[in-house]
Amino acid sequence: MILKGFGASGLQLPVIGQGTWRMGESARGAGEEIRALRLGIDLGMTHIDTAEMYGSGSTEELVGRATAGIRHKVFLTSKVLPSNASRAGVVRACERSLKRLGTDYLDLYLLHWWGRHPIGETMGALEELVAAGKVRMIGVSNLDAAELEQARRALTRERIVCNQVCYHLNARGIEWGLVRDCALQGIAVVGYSPFGSGDFPAAGSRPWRALESIARRHGRTPRQVALNFLTRGAGLFSIPKAATPEHVRENAASVGWELTPEDVALIDEFFPPPSAETPLAMI
Ligand code: NAP
Repeated sequence: MILKGFGASGLQLPVIGQGTWRMGESARGAGEEIRALRLGIDLGMTHIDTAEMYGSGSTEELVGRATAGIRHKVFLTSKVLPSNASRAGVVRACERSLKRLGTDYLDLYLLHWWGRHPIGETMGALEELVAAGKVRMIGVSNLDAAELEQARRALTRERIVCNQVCYHLNARGIEWGLVRDCALQGIAVVGYSPFGSGDFPAAGSRPWRALESIARRHGRTPRQVALNFLTRGAGLFSIPKAATPEHVRENAASVGWELTPEDVALIDEFFPPPSAETPLAMI
C-alpha cells in the first residue's frame, strides 16, 4: 500500500483506509466483517475509520474485536456526535468509544459534523483529550471552509490534521476550493463514501463503460479507477467500506499506478468537476 504525508501531522498514512459504517449491525455477518478488516490491515489499509454513531456503538465493538492484539498496527479514527459535543460530553463520549474499541487511545478523534454546541467547547475538549493522552490527533468532518476556519481559530494548542468529507465521482464539489484551502493549512482531506455509499454507476451504464475502458487499459477495474482518481492529489485519502475479501483485495490494489491525462479527461466528461462553489455534499 502506498503511504503519503497526512497533512501537517508528520505521519505517513495509507492512501486507502477502511470505512466501517453499517458493519457490526448483525451478529451473523460479524465474522466475515472482522476477517475483511483484518485482511485489509494485512494488505496495508491500516487506517480504520469508525464512529460512535455507527450501529449505536456496535460498530466500534466490532472494530475492537478486529483489532484486538494488533492495535499497534492500526491508525484508529473515531468521531463524536455533534449532540455529544459539549465540553464534558466530548470527554465522556471518548471514554465510551475507547471502552467499546478495547483501547486506551485513539489515533484521531473527529467532530462528526457541525452541531448546536459552541465550537470552542468542542475543540477545547478535544485538546483536553490530547493532553490526557487519550487521543493523539484531532480533526473534523463535514465542515465547509467557513466552519473549518472557526474550528481552527477555537484551538489554542493543537491543530486540525484532517477534514473528512464526502468525495466520490458524482460529488466532486470539494475540488472547487476546499481541497486547496485544506492543503494550504496542512489539513489532510479524507474522502468518505468513495463509491457513493452503494450508488456506484451500474455495470453496463455509459458512465460505467467509460470507467471500464480506462480500467482495461491499465489491467484494473472501474472501482480501482475511481479510487485511484479520488486519491490523485497530494493531500487526498479515501476510506472505502468493504465487507468481503474480494472487495478488500480489489480496493487495496487501486493505487500505486497512474491514470493518464486522457483517462482524467474521460472521467471529467462523464463525472464533471464543479464549475462553481457548491454546498458540501453529505451522506
Ligand atoms: P462506500 O465505501 O462508498 O461504499 C460501500 C459499498 O460499496 C458497500 O456496499 C460495499 O460492499 C461496496 N464495495 C466496497 N468495495 C467494493 C468493491 N471493490 N466492489 C464492489 N463493491 C464494493 O460507502 P460508505 O460506507 O458510505 O463510505 C465509506 C466509509 O466512509 C464509511 O464506512 C464510514 O467509515 C465513512 N463515512 C463517513 C461519513 C461522515 O459523515 N464522516 C459519512 C459516510 C461514510 P460490501 O460491504 O459488501 O463489501
